[in-house]
Amino acid sequence: FVIPDFPSFTKGIEHIYWNCKSNSQGRLATYIPQLARVNPDQWGVSVCTIDGQRFGIGDNRVPFTMQSCSKPLTYAIALERLGQERVHQYVGQEPSGRNFNELVLDHNKKPHNPMVNAGGILVCSMLKDLVKPEQTLAEKFDFTLNYYKRLAGGEKLGFNNAVFLSEREAADRNYAIGHYMREHGCYPEKPADLRELLDYYFQCCSMESNCEAMSVIAATLANGGICPTTEEKVLLPETTRDVLSLLHSCGMYDYSGQFAFRVGLPAKSGVSGAMLVVVPNVMGICVWSPPLDPMGNSCRGVQFCEELVGEFNLHRYDNL
Ligand code: GLN
Repeated sequence: FVIPDFPSFTKGIEHIYWNCKSNSQGRLATYIPQLARVNPDQWGVSVCTIDGQRFGIGDNRVPFTMQSCSKPLTYAIALERLGQERVHQYVGQEPSGRNFNELVLDHNKKPHNPMVNAGGILVCSMLKDLVKPEQTLAEKFDFTLNYYKRLAGGEKLGFNNAVFLSEREAADRNYAIGHYMREHGCYPEKPADLRELLDYYFQCCSMESNCEAMSVIAATLANGGICPTTEEKVLLPETTRDVLSLLHSCGMYDYSGQFAFRVGLPAKSGVSGAMLVVVPNVMGICVWSPPLDPMGNSCRGVQFCEELVGEFNLHRYDNL
């Protein structure tokens, strides 16, 4: 086993879980009205090691939408299908130093990275127009959902239509980003109608999962792309390497630098309060608690990661 004494490890996780439970900081995302309707007290944690040991506590089976946690997954699909070089013709690798939904491009007029909204929308346009362009929108949705499902070893993955509709109704900012990128010729193929592209992006954000299934996704990334529960080779090791590199530097929005410093693990947050956390070659973790800090990261989620690293020396540079 990669974690020889799993029971004492999970005891430690449980302890941190209860510490974070009393954290009442943060606010729900309200710009997507449907996200403001969830119960803010919900708090779940799941762990899946690369050799398939599992642990979950709290609201670990309650469904939530992935939001930006979908971005590393769509980015991974793009890398698999198009290769690193092609993908990065259109999107950069630098942290933006700005909010996740900022109307901003880098000096080359590319989105800064695939983990902020501009980059996420651009990666969706690549999947839409460069990967199997003959697919209908329905087929594209199924193709994406099935990929996510394989990453999760076939566990809970669905779609939340209410959140999708709610986000689509309140999408001025993402439309502005979409138009801005069209003005600057960012897309591989100029979209005649941005609605289709943004619908696809919102569909990815509205994929619904839970901590258990998302911990398997994180574990697949921790395991070089091989799903630990099904042993299916879902991603190439080089894809996984690229995804983890950018999660390390850009996964936590404008907290990414501090997170890399304090926690030292690749992670991705979403405005639903979800967080994927990867301990390479060891395990995947998913934590979920809806209240967010001003940067858009889950308050309890960030606290959990900081305490986790304090307790178990999992920071990438702990063992030098
Ligand atoms: N669907 C959200 C948006 O585009 C995703 C952003 C996030 O999770 N930070 O605004």
